[in-house]
Amino acid sequence: MFSEGKATVLENFGTIAGVLNRDPDHLLKFLLRELGTAGKLDGPRAVFQGKFSGSTVTEHINAYVKEYVICGECGRPDTHLVKSDRLLMIKCDACGAHRPAKRRPVHAVEHREALSEGGEYDMVIESTGSKGDGVAKKDKFTIFVPGAKKGESVKVRIKKISGTLAYAELLSKQ
Ligand SMILES: [Zn+2]
Repeated sequence: MFSEGKATVLENFGTIAGVLNRDPDHLLKFLLRELGTAGKLDGPRAVFQGKFSGSTVTEHINAYVKEYVICGECGRPDTHLVKSDRLLMIKCDACGAHRPAKRRPVHAVEHREALSEGGEYDMVIESTGSKGDGVAKKDKFTIFVPGAKKGESVKVRIKKISGTLAYAELLSKQ
């Protein structure tokens, strides 16, 4: 594992894919998607655009193993992938179990915030705050809306977000 200019080279990539008994292309595609970068196979090596630490790449390889290699029943890695219909299945050679290989949501979706400053949203005021502001909830956020009352459906613009608290401006009531 080393950096070559602005690229990161994983020298033993072919060996890793071999040990996992997986198609290097499949593993590479997974890693590129996880790392959010471009790259290619170069003989036994994999070349990623951008600089990544060994621990970052290892973490994603571990995620791949969890998702596409380890048997969900017996926990052994002696499995192979089978395409059944359009579903990718992991079939275990040790215990015979099989399960669909599941894609976890990509990070971009996981980390997407439900609210952003300046954004306009429709919400329902669920309660009244101690200062008389309307209070709404959206995902992890508690939103304070001055001028709105409990039970009202409102359109608001988020003025400020502080942790899980958001302060909004009332645009209209529906
Ligand atoms: Zn098994």
